[in-house]
Amino acid sequence: MAETKRPSRDTLSALETAPNMYLILSPDLYILTASDLYLQATKTTRDAIIGKHIFEAFPDNPDLPDADGVQNINASLQAVLRTKKPDQMPIQRYDVPDTENPGKFIRRYWDPCHSPVLDSEGNISYIIQLATNVTDKILAERALHQSHLENLETTEQVRALNAELLATNVELRETQHQLNLLNGQLEGRVAKRTDELRQAVEEQAAINEEMEATNEELIATQQHLEHINRELTAEESRFRMAVESTGLGTWDYIPATGELQWSKECRMIFGLDNDQPMDFETYTRHIFPEDREFVASRINSSLQSESSGRYEITHRIMRFDNKEVRWVKAQGTVQFQAGKASRFLGTALDITELKQVEEKSGRLAAIVATSNDAIISKTLESVITSWNDSAERMFGYTSAEMIGETIYKLIPADRQDEEPMILERLKAGDRVEHFETKRQTKDGRLIDVSLTISPIQDSRGNITGFSKIARDISERKQNELRKNDFIAMVSHEIKTPLTSMSAILQMLQRKFAESEDVMVPQLLDRANLQVKKMTTMINGFLNISRLESGKIQINRQAFNICELIKEVVAEINLTGINHIINIRECEDAVVMADREKIDSVLSNLLGNAIKYSPKGSEVTIDCYKQDSYTYIRVSDRGLGISEADCAHIFDRYYRVESDPISQASGFGIGLYLSAEIVHHHNGKIWVESEIGKGAQFYFSLPLEEIRKPDVGD
Ligand code: ADP
Repeated sequence: MAETKRPSRDTLSALETAPNMYLILSPDLYILTASDLYLQATKTTRDAIIGKHIFEAFPDNPDLPDADGVQNINASLQAVLRTKKPDQMPIQRYDVPDTENPGKFIRRYWDPCHSPVLDSEGNISYIIQLATNVTDKILAERALHQSHLENLETTEQVRALNAELLATNVELRETQHQLNLLNGQLEGRVAKRTDELRQAVEEQAAINEEMEATNEELIATQQHLEHINRELTAEESRFRMAVESTGLGTWDYIPATGELQWSKECRMIFGLDNDQPMDFETYTRHIFPEDREFVASRINSSLQSESSGRYEITHRIMRFDNKEVRWVKAQGTVQFQAGKASRFLGTALDITELKQVEEKSGRLAAIVATSNDAIISKTLESVITSWNDSAERMFGYTSAEMIGETIYKLIPADRQDEEPMILERLKAGDRVEHFETKRQTKDGRLIDVSLTISPIQDSRGNITGFSKIARDISERKQNELRKNDFIAMVSHEIKTPLTSMSAILQMLQRKFAESEDVMVPQLLDRANLQVKKMTTMINGFLNISRLESGKIQINRQAFNICELIKEVVAEINLTGINHIINIRECEDAVVMADREKIDSVLSNLLGNAIKYSPKGSEVTIDCYKQDSYTYIRVSDRGLGISEADCAHIFDRYYRVESDPISQASGFGIGLYLSAEIVHHHNGKIWVESEIGKGAQFYFSLPLEEIRKPDVGD
């Protein structure tokens, strides 16, 4: 190789300070110098590199196994050396040693360009390496690229994400749709379930209610059972007591041995001591002789295997102790073993009293059937429950027509209020005896009847109905009517001559008042008195007949009862009585009444008091006011009246059947008339008396100011 000329020192110095990065190499690639910028960029000094082979000063980074800097630089340099033309290298990584950290390298990118500097002969004098440090640019580019890549990746990712999102969105929509569907289904199911639950709740409530009701029923049943249990216990003890009290005997007979066992009660029925032996033979001997045969045959047939095993018989026995004949009812059952009667047991009851009652009621039934009186029973509501043959004969209705009907069917329209009044009296415990009234038959006739009614009571004494005996008194009534008519006619006929007689007597009294014969006026007075008595009597009869025919007249006027009392007493005193009549107390009381008829009531009561009490005894009359009524009382100290007679004393023609009284004259019409008159004035009349203790007769009249309207007007 030809000798080359080295660059001068000046050239080198100029290059060293040039504002570029230059490395000056000899043609054999030794470092001649480097610019300051080059040294800075390669973090080295001139001294450290001058004189060194380029690749010694700048070796490859040993930490980079694929570092190709040395190789590529060398190739470029060889190409320059060969061609003597500049060579622009592509950007080359070429790390430089880190002088601060020996052994370490700093990453560097370069943009080298090798340019030969030729001498005058055309030989390469030196090679200038212009190396631009493009590390920052490259790193920036790289970072940019990386970021671009990353961006790309991100975009891709975003796109993918977007797609994913879209897909997800679709999915979400789908899911949403599904969810909606599900929701719909769920809502449906929830509604259904809610409905079911509501139903279940309602059902549960119903079940609860039912359970509560059942529970209550159970409690009630429980209580009922407890009650039944108590009842049963009571029933059992009652039964035991009943067995003891009814004397129900038990017996046990073993046919094979003839052995017969009797309970204490059974022995009592037969009048047998507890220690006396007993067997079947002895028993049969005490059956009443006439009944023995049929009892034996019944026992035999019961013991036959084909029998029902049931036994019931009523027969007479003769008691062991006193031979008394009694009725016994025996019931029993036969037990069979291998077709043979092994045991025969049962009960025995003395039914003698029952038999007697049966006989009695049989007799009673016969009496009821054959009685001439109608015997009827009815309920508290007047519904007929029994009707005998006489009732049919009397009223014309058959029992089939009347049973179940009310008694009102027989009561005439104008007497319908009688029945409630009768029931009232019966329910109050009063007796209704010989109540005279009228009843209507099936063919429309009115008949006179006398009714006697008594209550029917159950075992506890409660009134459950009434028994009524009706007697047809039409004939008697007809006779009475005839008698009354006769009496009325006779009285009327007598009254006219009597009035004339009275007038004649009064004339005679006046004529002979001054007679020398004192006897004459006295006799005339007595004759006058007798005529008055007769007149009173005849008036009484006439009044009765008027009463009976409903023709009695009440002529009212206001008057003071005390004044009338005084008048009546004065008049009686005039008749020369042997009694003392005392007007004890007399309150002024104005009544609106028939003065004449009340006069006759007072006269009758005072007359009776005198008639039925001893001569010289005291008769008292007093009058007092109470509760809108005036009460008049006539008391005597005479014979008195028994309770039985008191009940009938106001009946027509009733007279007490006792010697001293029956001797006193009278017809038993005075009190009857008095009572009728008082009743026609809406007053009351009654008697209080005891035998031997005198009698007090009372009657009342309403005071004028509150007088009620009455029927008799
Ligand atoms: P008579 O005309 O028979 O006296 P009454 O109707 O006046 O009729 O009396 C009926 C019966 O009552 C009498 O027969 C008598 O037996 C009885 N009686 C009436 N008043 C008295 C009395 N004050 N004391 C005793 N018995 C009397």
